[in-house]
Amino acid sequence: MKKSYTRPRKIRIGQLILLLTVIVMTIIPSQPGAARATYQEAGPIYIIQPGDTLNEVAIRFGITAEEIITVNALENPNALDVGQRIVIPGLKGLSGELTSEIVPLGASLAGFARQNRLKQSDLITLNRITSPSEIIAGVSFIISIPSERVQLTNIPMMKPGFSALETAILAGVSPWEMVADNQFLGTWDVLPGDPIFVKASSDSVDGEASENLSISVNTLPPVQGETMQIIITTKTPMDFSGRFNGDSIHFFSDDGKVFSGFFGVHALAEPGVYPLEIQGVDIDGNSFEFNQLVLVASKYYETQMVYVGAEYLDDDVIVEEEAYIHPIVRQLTPERLWSGQFQYPVDDPCVNSAFGLRRIYNDGLLFYYHTGTDFAVCAPNLNIYAVAAGKVVLAEELIVRGNAILIDHGWGIMSGYWHLSEFNVSVGDTVQPGDLLGLIGNTGRSAGPHLHFEILINGTPVNSQTWLDQTFP
Ligand SMILES: [Zn+2]
Repeated sequence: MKKSYTRPRKIRIGQLILLLTVIVMTIIPSQPGAARATYQEAGPIYIIQPGDTLNEVAIRFGITAEEIITVNALENPNALDVGQRIVIPGLKGLSGELTSEIVPLGASLAGFARQNRLKQSDLITLNRITSPSEIIAGVSFIISIPSERVQLTNIPMMKPGFSALETAILAGVSPWEMVADNQFLGTWDVLPGDPIFVKASSDSVDGEASENLSISVNTLPPVQGETMQIIITTKTPMDFSGRFNGDSIHFFSDDGKVFSGFFGVHALAEPGVYPLEIQGVDIDGNSFEFNQLVLVASKYYETQMVYVGAEYLDDDVIVEEEAYIHPIVRQLTPERLWSGQFQYPVDDPCVNSAFGLRRIYNDGLLFYYHTGTDFAVCAPNLNIYAVAAGKVVLAEELIVRGNAILIDHGWGIMSGYWHLSEFNVSVGDTVQPGDLLGLIGNTGRSAGPHLHFEILINGTPVNSQTWLDQTFP
């Protein structure tokens, strides 16, 4: 008998709490003080990430900065700490903790939702996605942190012509486990090219069996003036080709298993979303296609005033020299001639003008950007060295570049050295890293003795400092 009295009482208390909550919620608009406590219990919490500003966070959630300030009683909205927890008002039905994550290359909306253990509908709500079929790699998405954090690992994308069942078997996991982990409806609910995730703890993930086909990129989002390296790992030998914003990406490999495609994002490229297309064909004619929009982010470059002789700013001269150099810098050597990190081209490297600076020549006669890194004379010698192994493809006097040397390192990568006073090599020479190429001078469009050093990818100059700091491939 006691039991039958207890149960209805519990329900009544529950109803009372619910009713009280409803009353408190109704009071919110007129009493901001009371609202705070309620929201903190009910609303999702966003964890501030590096680089976040209050305005950006507000825009992303479709609310105003004032709403966030009020609800969280923020005293100093200009000083948000990384890791700080703020309540996001106005997201009905969502709770828990939110954070942001960069959308990886190869992610579909379904795949990204799956990897983060989110319902697709929640992901769409959180990020106010209007076109679920077009998900952009490199964009930062708001995600909710699942209460049960299961680390999922990307297993290779499904190979064309393979069923989900075969893919699971190849990866060494149970197909049913794979279906559950990925929130598929069944093994039929997987599209070729869709990334698949399995629990990282699964012993079967590593090892040769999981190496089917995967695509990744060195940096996301790629930024203006930087090197983008797309890496394809494949078990089946294939020929790959690609395009980014309509310009070709050439893929090369040392071993036929790991392919690299280098792309130079132009320093003056308009920040925005660009299509990335990759195709692969194997020996039997089986083909594979990958298409995704990728965000190109802007980078801040300072502006510099430069004064040079007016003859170096003549349009005809510049156009003629570009036309002459174009086929030389665009030639492709399919063998990689370099290995390891590039070394500095001078003994005591002191940079007096960095890559990418927006340059105004002679008070506005010409506007361009700095295509390389300038080294002033800081060593007791004027020596210029090869940064990596390669072949000399240009060593001659030009009008703008002065005495110029270009070294082809293979795979579409070249290094350029301008304004020399003397040459120590000729076209056709093979050089090793550290070989003397010539001496620093002041020839061509130069405002004093220095070495202008640049790195080109298929003819596009990229931040040369990156190649001195990082090892590619
Ligand atoms: Zn320069």
